[in-house]
Amino acid sequence: MTKPAVIFHIGIDDVDSPAGGCTTHLALLMLKELLNHGITLVDYPNLVRLNPGVPWKTRGNGAVALRLATTMELDEIYEIVGSVFEKYVEEYENPKHQPCLLIVKGDITHKIALLARRALYDIIPPDLALKALEGTPHILKCFNKGRGVVGALGAVGNTMTSEDYTFELIAYRKIENLSKDRCVDKESVKVMNQVYGNETILNYDPVEDRVLITPRGPDPVLLGIRGETPSTLIKAYKMLKLCEEPDFAAIFRTNQHTDPHIRVAETICEAHPYMCLRLRGTVSTKPFRTVGGHVFFKVCDDRCCIDVGVYEPTKWFRDIAELLIPGDVVEVQGCVRPPSATHGLTLNLEKLHIISLKPMIVYENPLCTVCGKRLTSAGKGKGFKCRNCGFKSKDIARKTRILERGLSEGWYQPPYSAFKHVMKPLERVGREKRVFHYTFIETVFVA
Ligand SMILES: [Zn+2]
Repeated sequence: MTKPAVIFHIGIDDVDSPAGGCTTHLALLMLKELLNHGITLVDYPNLVRLNPGVPWKTRGNGAVALRLATTMELDEIYEIVGSVFEKYVEEYENPKHQPCLLIVKGDITHKIALLARRALYDIIPPDLALKALEGTPHILKCFNKGRGVVGALGAVGNTMTSEDYTFELIAYRKIENLSKDRCVDKESVKVMNQVYGNETILNYDPVEDRVLITPRGPDPVLLGIRGETPSTLIKAYKMLKLCEEPDFAAIFRTNQHTDPHIRVAETICEAHPYMCLRLRGTVSTKPFRTVGGHVFFKVCDDRCCIDVGVYEPTKWFRDIAELLIPGDVVEVQGCVRPPSATHGLTLNLEKLHIISLKPMIVYENPLCTVCGKRLTSAGKGKGFKCRNCGFKSKDIARKTRILERGLSEGWYQPPYSAFKHVMKPLERVGREKRVFHYTFIETVFVA
């Protein structure tokens, strides 16, 4: 009788380095080795973005998981991927980073899943990650102090089988091109965006006239197209004019652009540094703009308050925030930074939901019925008098007028160029996916 195949989960994190390493790139090199050994992939490589608020994050705080079915054992799998991992980490050695490789055998336990979920919006001490792994067959290999275990566990444990997800097609550069500028034809990105803009996410920012699919920096990524299905991404990719030949391209399943980092809080009191939340409250101070161009206002519920910062890179999003007045009921969403000398605990605004606008009322004295000039008060309880013609009356009341706010209730988001990987565009609302079933994945690498 042949041994039944078991599902294994391989997680890696904290490999990115200023010298050019990239976690997704390493994962694919490992995958190539695994495929050479005849393993079966049961999911696309998972690119799991963890809490973007953590202070020591690598560029996008992305970790990667490979999920495979095989009759091999833990040590045999380690035999295949371990050397690839070690070689890569040594090549892009960076004392600040703490890369980890984690291989877990069998189903993801409730304990691992719970902690992995928390790693999406909170700070997790490595000890807790190690504790969650107790009792589960696994191999863990870390460099430096091993903080990467949190990310590796976060990747392995966030299976995105019952949460929203999207896909990203990432094309990588040949080593000989790394020192040159990325060469992707801008017009072809705009054309691709016109054709597939509905099924893809954040290719191009028309307001800032900026291509968003190419990263900056020394990493080996040439470009990344995000979208709803692998087939659209392949079609969109083929429309691009690349004036630099990519090394290879592959498709990831990811929690990008699904707001995985946002936890809906019951009260503002739950806000702590480095957490990412949605908070509901009432605007309690008039927004003001600092010299640096940032806009700040305060939001309170009946127990706690928090400062909200709308930063300069979010451009016109600040103009919307500036129209708020005390009394408006809002939901504010984003990650929390610790207090400093100049501000208190501050939520860095990613999305604004205006629930109700306080009517802005001005009181006006009525006009004189005889000469038409504006009346003035004749004293408390004495009605109004006219300074022009001497008319007096106790019978007319002050008039109220509701001023136009120039703002309506609803959701607001910043320009695309200010979006983080995790942030869900409002255009995706209603398009959320709910399930993913493990199945044999044929096409990860795109020709
Ligand atoms: Zn008058």
